[in-house]
Amino acid sequence: MAQAKKALAKKAGASRTARTKSFSNYIGGEWVASAAGDWLENRNPADTRDVIGRFPQSTAADVDRAVAAAAEAFDGWRHTPAPRRAEILYRVGEILMRDKEKYTRDMTREMGKVLKEAGGDVQEAIDCTYYAAGEGRRLHGFTTPAEMPNKFAMCVRQPIGLCGLITPWNFPMAIPSWKMIPALICGNTVVIKPAEDTPLSTYNLVKACEEAGVPPGVVNLVTGDGAVAGRRMTDHPALRLISFTGSTETGRLVALACADRNAVCSLEMGGKNAIIVMDDADVDNAVEGAVWGAFGTSGQRCTASSRLIVHKKVYKEFSRKLVARAQALRVGNGADPKVDVGPVINQDAVQKIMRYIEIGQKEDQATLACGGHRLTKGDYGHGYFIEPTVFTDVAPDMRIAQEEIFGPVTSVIPTKSLDEAVEIANGVQYGLSAAIYTQDVNRAFQAMNETYTGIFYVNASTIGAEVHLPFGGTKGTGNGHREAGTQVLDIFSEWKSIYVDYSGKLQRAQIDNKKAIG
Ligand code: NAD
Repeated sequence: MAQAKKALAKKAGASRTARTKSFSNYIGGEWVASAAGDWLENRNPADTRDVIGRFPQSTAADVDRAVAAAAEAFDGWRHTPAPRRAEILYRVGEILMRDKEKYTRDMTREMGKVLKEAGGDVQEAIDCTYYAAGEGRRLHGFTTPAEMPNKFAMCVRQPIGLCGLITPWNFPMAIPSWKMIPALICGNTVVIKPAEDTPLSTYNLVKACEEAGVPPGVVNLVTGDGAVAGRRMTDHPALRLISFTGSTETGRLVALACADRNAVCSLEMGGKNAIIVMDDADVDNAVEGAVWGAFGTSGQRCTASSRLIVHKKVYKEFSRKLVARAQALRVGNGADPKVDVGPVINQDAVQKIMRYIEIGQKEDQATLACGGHRLTKGDYGHGYFIEPTVFTDVAPDMRIAQEEIFGPVTSVIPTKSLDEAVEIANGVQYGLSAAIYTQDVNRAFQAMNETYTGIFYVNASTIGAEVHLPFGGTKGTGNGHREAGTQVLDIFSEWKSIYVDYSGKLQRAQIDNKKAIG
């Protein structure tokens, strides 16, 4: 995904004016350039003439420096009582609230999503910060009876150590916060590397940490390429944990690197999420859910509703209404409040999405019911705009119904029964989110129980997670961990079991003490 911006960086080198803002890495409490002095340019995907700034193109040496700073800060931070850590993190939340409008505009400018969605992203970071900071007064362990008299047994959470956080561009402040704040409340120190396309929103989050008084070295920011800076993080022997969100393809590389050195690895990856629409559904409500799920964030959500599995009895009505709604969506610069669908992230994304639209048109019986074009006339010509696109009569095994397109494209798949719909919903390599529209509670619960995903919605779209519930997926989407909720604490802390024998004598465990035997 980063290639397009890198290419631009080279091309635009000559045209860069002295006014291009230069941003820095944040290492050990200092704002510093990359040791090699290279840069990554950040441009607005709605108008590539708009240069947001240049960010350090960090090397392995920069990552090593950041890890050393995190190591230096670790003892001080883990010995800071968790309620005190929480007080600092609450201040981060206050700063995010104070500057929410600015962060929102920054995000729309660097990532493209419409202002309301960018505001939602910042709000999610605020919610996550308050919620996770609240754990500073809980971080509950447990006590349990011991097998022997005069012996006490308990379990406490301990920090993992130094954590490497690698994040994608589609939720450029929310996802970094989902990782960073829980990591910090657990007493870890972190190095974070945001996606190449959206360093500014993570920079804003780290700035808020600095202002809130997070001690030097506890949070370190390195920007740059995944294949260089990200790779060095996954390989770095001192980073005990890598928390990654991104594509399934990259996630596998991250997992391999972590397996090689036995590092803890948490992965949140791609999705191919289905909405099932039954014959008793409120069709208008289902259409609204499908439009929001398929075209919100220009379809660039891991939870996007990219498959709509619709009962034959309502198939025609649903498809007709969906196409009408998709055609009515206003595509444009997300900074314009009248716009419904912003640009996609970069030129690579345009090429990938257009390739899938071509594949869809060539595949079997699918019909391109609306959309299917890149918009290039007038102001569109300066950005990465694609029409909201609907394929109908799609078969479940077609590539457009199997692979993650990550753009404003959705497939309508006819079905004759709930059992078949569930089978289709489960018939992909991913398992993040699924939904059903029905008025029948039995059908709703059956679908909830039989779909193999980490998230399920009844009479709502596949998108719309809340920070106090666990978030993550099965199969190709994840590796068993969950972010958000209190479950995220299980990623960023390790259990220590503690036995206290106050009998004053040797009491042996793990031997057979039972008199009856022998
Ligand atoms: P990506 O895999 O291209 O990049 C993600 C991050 O990994 C970036 O910071 C990138 O620089 C880094 N990276 C790339 N190569 C690396 C390497 N070899 N070693 C270490 N790091 C490397 O993903 P993307 O295009 O930024 O994001 C889109 C993907 O993210 C989609 O597949 C989407 O479904 C997924 N996503 C998943 C969730 C979830 O919670 N399940 C949430 C958001 C996005």
